[in-house]
Amino acid sequence: MAIEKTFSILKPDAVRRNLTGAINDRFEKAGLRIVAQKRIQMTEVQAQKFYEVHKERPFYGDLVKFMTSGPVVVQVLMGEDAIAKNRKVMGATNPANADEGTIRKDFAESIEANSVHGSDSAENAAIEIAYFFAGKEIVE
Ligand code: GDP
Repeated sequence: MAIEKTFSILKPDAVRRNLTGAINDRFEKAGLRIVAQKRIQMTEVQAQKFYEVHKERPFYGDLVKFMTSGPVVVQVLMGEDAIAKNRKVMGATNPANADEGTIRKDFAESIEANSVHGSDSAENAAIEIAYFFAGKEIVE
């Protein structure tokens, strides 16, 4: 399997509850390496553009409000099959449907405040990484 990079966000609900270390531990135990990481306050425009694909969904406005409600930690995770592996470690979008032992099962508060974001394809991973990180900030 190929070594890949994927984009990850520790969302405001997780950062607010001081869970960044606990969640990073899950990534590292799964063999994902944190090759870039920074704490930011997302602006409204940044969040709107990031979730543009959901613009027509009824929850779009609330999602943008949530993602800008406090600091987040944006990251690049690297490892074998990193995109699919991260999605597995994260668990289903709705924590009620997430498998035992996944981040969302153990930490998420709701379908919206679900603690983590992870890219869903190689194409989106590349776009999302470039949206938040300069090449120089990624140290393999
Ligand atoms: P993901 O790839 O698992 O994060 O899921 P999606 O791309 O489908 O949705 C993006 C984000 O929108 C999710 O992680 C949630 O934070 C939020 N979201 C998705 N579905 C819903 C919903 O039905 N209601 C609300 N309030 N938020 C949602």
